Amino acid sequence: AWRQPEIKRTKTVCTYCGVGCSFEMWTRDRQLLKVQPVNEAPANGISTCIKGKFGWDFINSENRLTTPLIRENGRFREASWEEALDLVAHRLLEIRDRHGSDSLGFIGSSKASNEEAYLTQKIARLIIGTNSVDNSSRYCQNPATQGLFRTVGYGGDAGTIEDIQKASLIVIVGSNTAECHPVIASKIKAAHKQHGQKLLVADPREHEMAERADLYLRNKPSTDLIWASALARYMFDNDLADWEFLDNRVNNVEEFRRSLEPFTLEFAAEKTGLSRDELVEAAEMIGRAESVCLLWAMGITQHSHGADTSTALSNLLLVTGNYGKPGSGGYPMRGHNNVQGASDFGCLANVYPGYESVTDDAIREKWARAWGVDKERLSNHVGSDNFRMVQDAAEQKIRAMYIIGEETGLSDADLGNVHDGFTKLDFMVVQDIFFSRTAEFADVVLPACPSTEKDGSFVNTERRIQRFYEVMPPLGDSRPDWRILTELAARMGHDWGYTHPSQIMAECAGIAKIFAGVSYERLEGWQSLVWPVAEDGTDSPLLYTESFHFDDGRAQLYPQEWHEPAEAADEEYDLELNNGRVLEHFQSANQTGQGPRINSQIPNWFVEVGSDLAAERGIEDGSWVRITSRRDSIELQAIVTDRVRGNELFIPIHHSKPGINFLTGEHHDPDVNTPAYKEVAVRMEKL
Ligand code: SF4
Repeated sequence: AWRQPEIKRTKTVCTYCGVGCSFEMWTRDRQLLKVQPVNEAPANGISTCIKGKFGWDFINSENRLTTPLIRENGRFREASWEEALDLVAHRLLEIRDRHGSDSLGFIGSSKASNEEAYLTQKIARLIIGTNSVDNSSRYCQNPATQGLFRTVGYGGDAGTIEDIQKASLIVIVGSNTAECHPVIASKIKAAHKQHGQKLLVADPREHEMAERADLYLRNKPSTDLIWASALARYMFDNDLADWEFLDNRVNNVEEFRRSLEPFTLEFAAEKTGLSRDELVEAAEMIGRAESVCLLWAMGITQHSHGADTSTALSNLLLVTGNYGKPGSGGYPMRGHNNVQGASDFGCLANVYPGYESVTDDAIREKWARAWGVDKERLSNHVGSDNFRMVQDAAEQKIRAMYIIGEETGLSDADLGNVHDGFTKLDFMVVQDIFFSRTAEFADVVLPACPSTEKDGSFVNTERRIQRFYEVMPPLGDSRPDWRILTELAARMGHDWGYTHPSQIMAECAGIAKIFAGVSYERLEGWQSLVWPVAEDGTDSPLLYTESFHFDDGRAQLYPQEWHEPAEAADEEYDLELNNGRVLEHFQSANQTGQGPRINSQIPNWFVEVGSDLAAERGIEDGSWVRITSRRDSIELQAIVTDRVRGNELFIPIHHSKPGINFLTGEHHDPDVNTPAYKEVAVRMEKL
């Protein structure tokens, strides 16, 4: 007789932001019955947001890719895995042999698992012989990582979400935390109630956390380096610098202090649009706080000098002694669920897993030995990052790209140029769960699985490694990325024989020092580990308590200069376009946009126009407008709101038709090649 299938409860980790909420999924076969938060979840406890709770319609979407596709005579046809993987293996090796290892580029997924990131870079480095492998941190937090590398040594958050809750003052800069990292925002709101935690927000756009702030600095766009440096100078000039901390733990203090000479309060007030009083109040709040956590995100990093501004923020924390004690430190808020892990596990052009330099001979030797090859097989120079790969594709220096779970064809800046580059490639593979905009340019499309259909681990914004478990089997003929990559490697002569991601993690932990004590046994269930993890399993929730991550154990104050933005409003393009996320959606919305439960919340895409500007131009709520940049135009409806002001506009990044990145340009941060998404001059016409 027919029996109702059992209800299954499986632990999983949310795939919509770097908070890393974990919870139980209750399922019956492929039907998701509910998402059940539990107390044991290390990052979130019983909290989730709308995306974690309701954003799973995409799992069973009829738009899922379920079979490999091969382009033939300009059209895609279905193919078997054998045929598709044979073709991919053959073409990648052929292009490598004909044009050299660096003619191929790999973009790993910031949504796939750590183990899958590890295999992506292993194929690139070991089989192809290139370091041209990257992930979407290039488009978001790589500048923040650079700022931390320069000043404190590790490219991750200084502490945990618990530290954020403990701080006596939270400073949020260029981060719409309530919509982009909702559970962290709710913990900050709770800390305010529980122990009177203060909140200082700096942002040109008045989002929810700005409304809640004890002090809100509404500075002009692209001026954060100025106020942060002016505050650092104020600390020295007004006896608020932590001299004990500086003397004992920090290098380069005097040179840094001299570099602050230009950053007077008067200069800062003139450039930032903030009053002198606001600057002094902010400095006094930070300088006198017992402990400060400083959170920042794309509002800082997606500029032509995002790495420098990130450095300036970390400098300010050092001057005030806000590293290495509970409730202190710098916290770049990671956007994708595993953008931290994709970087940690080696999808970066300059480092192996664990941030071990590709240009260090001893390290190269270590990895070559572990992988059983001669050192000369591994490239000794830094490869191309995402940005460079796409630029180089247009010049045919890159001849083939392999893109895993990234919507580069919508998310990169200056899309006209990106699409031009894609069409010039000799061969392109896209591995994804949907037929994305990027896939339209591919020669082979491989159907992958979301996290709910495989085992693996992610790293959240706290550097916390957590396991997730297979909730249901792969849909149709789709396969987990780790298995696709393992099978592809075997076809290219490297039969690694992985049958479960735990083996991949064990291999990596045996080589990369910061993961020495990581194992699936220690990550079982609700257990987690915060890297670096010593061999005996001791992890590091709070960094820098004893020493900074430099040879002499001391932090580095790193002088900065301010530069004008690469693109700003002028007579022809008189408005400045800001862009970012909304609470309900994730990136290009190819997951959150698949079902009515979330989609219905934002039925139309829009541009926010300030009320003064709207009145001046005769624009009302719902008016259709055309927004034109130096690259292209898009048309959408206006929302009149005081969240933006003056000549500033805001457009969410999630819509694909028309995409915001037809407007953004190729100008970028020269230190890290992150596009300056937030520096876009536009004009607006009412239609
Ligand atoms: Fe998912 Fe982030 Fe929401 Fe948590 S806060 S449920 S990780 S989107």
